[in-house]
Amino acid sequence: MNTQIIAIANQKGGVGKTTTCANLGIGLAQAGKKVLLIDGDPQGSLTISLGNPQPDKLPFTLSDAMGHILMDEPIHSGEGILHHLEGVDLMPADIQLSGMEVSLVNAMSRETILRQYLDTLKGQYSHILIDCQPSLGMLTVNALAAANRIIIPVQAEYLPAKGLEQLLSTVSKVKRQINPKLQIDGILLMMVDNRTNFAKEIAALLRDTYGSKIKIFGTEIPRSVRAKEISAEGKSIFAHDPGGKVAEGYRNLTKEVLKLEKQREKSRAGIGR
Ligand code: ADP
Ligand code: MG
Repeated sequence: MNTQIIAIANQKGGVGKTTTCANLGIGLAQAGKKVLLIDGDPQGSLTISLGNPQPDKLPFTLSDAMGHILMDEPIHSGEGILHHLEGVDLMPADIQLSGMEVSLVNAMSRETILRQYLDTLKGQYSHILIDCQPSLGMLTVNALAAANRIIIPVQAEYLPAKGLEQLLSTVSKVKRQINPKLQIDGILLMMVDNRTNFAKEIAALLRDTYGSKIKIFGTEIPRSVRAKEISAEGKSIFAHDPGGKVAEGYRNLTKEVLKLEKQREKSRAGIGR
């Protein structure tokens, strides 16, 4: 199976990475894909939002998995992977992962520990989505080194320019030095308030600045209290408010992501001919 590995990254917190990881993941599962979500944030927000309120009580989390790779120990395939009712699998994270980040600093092949772990699982999934922590530290670099695609959620309320520059320069560095396959899928405008023109202005600004290099998803995720509620309920927006605008947004995003994939496959096939 040609597994698509998508990192959801932005070093700014609160922009909607975790929400997007969960709902795009479940959207893909509903489209018939075999999906694994990786919680790459020691805060464990993705783990919590998928119905595991106490990540530190879990017997096996991402830091254990990466620890085995670091120590060159075998991993039982699938160990610690949780199953969510809505059809996705999850490798959870807890606060121990922040210790892992420290151990990585002096490790051999420190940038590719997550990639090596995912290599043990790849055959079983069509899509692996990685929820990144809000920093450009070693864990995020590991996610970028393992991924072939990145989605960058940006909150439409702030001018994101400066942070975006840093992220993009990290991405090109990882691409040059570790992972030439890495491609930016696009910038996703999050929490768009349709009552104001601000999101439109930001979208226009982003297009002016980066439009030649980076796609801005046609789908925008609207701001909604219903979206805020879901993390406490352990389910997706599709289960919580299926007819709402946010569910519609994530359905459209899922389609866009799958379409991008098809286009790339086609152009690869074209090159091969
Ligand atoms: P990050 O992972 O980037 O820190 P989160 O996905 O945790 O961001 O989202 C930050 C906060 O915004 C959370 O409280 C979440 O529930 C809320 N949120 C996410 N999407 C929406 C939305 N479409 N409308 C309103 N609030 C949202
Ligand atoms: Mg998060």
